[in-house]
Amino acid sequence: MDWKDFAHWGAEAARWAAEYHDTLRERPVRAQVAPGEILAQLPQAPPEDAEPVAAIFDDFKRVIVPGMTHWQHPRFFAYFPANAAPVSAFAEVLVNAMAAQCMLWQTSPAATELETRMMDWLRQATGLPQAFTGVIQDSASTATLAAVLAMRERALGFAGNKDGLPGQARLRVYASAEVHSSVDRAVRYAGIGQDNLVRVPVAGDLRGMDPEALRRMIAEDRAAGFLPAGIVAAVGGTGVGATDPLEQVAAIARDKGLFLHVDAAWAGAAMICPEHRALWAGVEHADSVVFNPHKWLGAQFDCSAHFLRDPDALVRTLAMKPEYLRTVGQKGARDYSDWSIPLGRRFRALKLWFLIRAHGLAGLRQMIRDHVRWSRELAARLARQPGFEIVTEPVLSLFAFRYAPEDAPDPDALTLSLLEAINDDGRIYLTHTRLDGAMVLRFQAGAFTMTAEDVDVAFQAIRDCAAGLGR
Ligand SMILES: *Cc1c(COP(=O)(O)O)cnc(C)c1O
Repeated sequence: MDWKDFAHWGAEAARWAAEYHDTLRERPVRAQVAPGEILAQLPQAPPEDAEPVAAIFDDFKRVIVPGMTHWQHPRFFAYFPANAAPVSAFAEVLVNAMAAQCMLWQTSPAATELETRMMDWLRQATGLPQAFTGVIQDSASTATLAAVLAMRERALGFAGNKDGLPGQARLRVYASAEVHSSVDRAVRYAGIGQDNLVRVPVAGDLRGMDPEALRRMIAEDRAAGFLPAGIVAAVGGTGVGATDPLEQVAAIARDKGLFLHVDAAWAGAAMICPEHRALWAGVEHADSVVFNPHKWLGAQFDCSAHFLRDPDALVRTLAMKPEYLRTVGQKGARDYSDWSIPLGRRFRALKLWFLIRAHGLAGLRQMIRDHVRWSRELAARLARQPGFEIVTEPVLSLFAFRYAPEDAPDPDALTLSLLEAINDDGRIYLTHTRLDGAMVLRFQAGAFTMTAEDVDVAFQAIRDCAAGLGR
């Protein structure tokens, strides 16, 4: 294929994409294949001779598509959404065509300057104060790793990068058990060590960390010779939407001189609606905040918005310029590779520009408000069904429930059987988590194209599958 052929095949791809999305509701959400089924259809050895694109494309449709779980399905209620609005997918085609590396200002001035402007649009849209500046990272995991590295270096007076960690005071990072596993990974990769991630107990309906316990644990660690470095707070945790009381946690961080990173990977998108901002009240005092426009907002993966109240600690920690990357005569230009772990950077700002302009903030707010309302309605409906128990009330559009009729000998096993029945049925897709030892199913409404009827189908699918268990 050369670029002249691309005009033909690009049009074919666009036609296929439109039809694929048009028929998604007829497809099972979760792939219905057995392990090894796709592998068995793939030739064991690579081809020696060139094959026609038409044959490759046919095999894609025949072999690959049936083995996909359809993340853009309107009835994808599992995990969190990974929405790709059509207009953001369109922008990605343009980005792919140029395939620029956007690491330095001069390697693509438009990409850098659009990124600066888009991050400020998102800052305004989510109500963050003007003091915050931002960078687009590939994922929340990377943003959190960057933040934990910055917290480590700030605590060590920037000696860790230079001298290494042996001989330094033993660092401590504080988080509840409800934070995402990317926090554990960041603490490991930063050389702080899993044992120095201190778990602060949670309290209340929102399962937020107990500020008094946090304060006490920091004091005890100091007295024992540890060096408390920072706190990672959750807003809308992955399991059941656990949210830390940021106002109080931030006051402790300030008081003790600790770096505060807020992980709002999923929930941050909802902050474009002013009525949801109470959930992260106090966020303005954080040092670092991440949320993923690639989850709920509709910017195709990958696109993670990372805000910093003062980028200095991050840039001092991550920036490194060998001679071949030094640019001459461009003082004051921002080189975003100084703000992130990889050197190479995709042009991620374009899809945000297209998305925000094509839908408007009002359109995106409407989507989020619909999802939150539909989720609450479904929770209320399920609560009235015999045997169903709402375990956590909706946080934004996420709630957890279980199927535990009074006479069920093993509600955990029954709830898991219900999950399997639902996902085999294919009309909807749900995932589970464990909460205080009990098995619960999660429901989140967040698919870009879902409608009220899809929630109705969800209710019917859950009810039908429960009835099918013969209880
Ligand atoms: C999804 C999620 C992450 C991880 O996001 P990636 O962008 O896939 O790294 C981290 N934290 C929370 C709360 C999440 O929901």
